[in-house]
Amino acid sequence: MWTILGGVVLIFWSFSTYMSGSFTPYWFYHIELGLFKIPISIVSFYIGTSMIINYKKIELEKKEFFSICLNCEEVFDNKNLQDGKCPHCEGIDTVDIEKYYKDKKEKEKEKETKIDKDKI
Ligand SMILES: [Zn+2]
Repeated sequence: MWTILGGVVLIFWSFSTYMSGSFTPYWFYHIELGLFKIPISIVSFYIGTSMIINYKKIELEKKEFFSICLNCEEVFDNKNLQDGKCPHCEGIDTVDIEKYYKDKKEKEKEKETKIDKDKI
């Protein structure tokens, strides 16, 4: 999430740098960039857009997570998986372990409420 925000800020910053032709960090200093404004704004715009485009990848790389195979119920480190498929069961997708346990809990809750309703 912060990656997107940073990217947006960088893009805005690149535009304002290009428009004003000056660099004002913290709004105290005022540096005239002259012709340097073009490469500087292009570079910051490029970094900003690539941050937004790659944010999912960056967030995924930052976060270590595990996934579970629905077939053999073995847990894997997501980094070692190819396309999120289980190496033991061919073509079976693995599921994010947090999501797996959340779904399991919800299903159990549903069961409980169902039983309660049957009793009534
Ligand atoms: Zn498996």
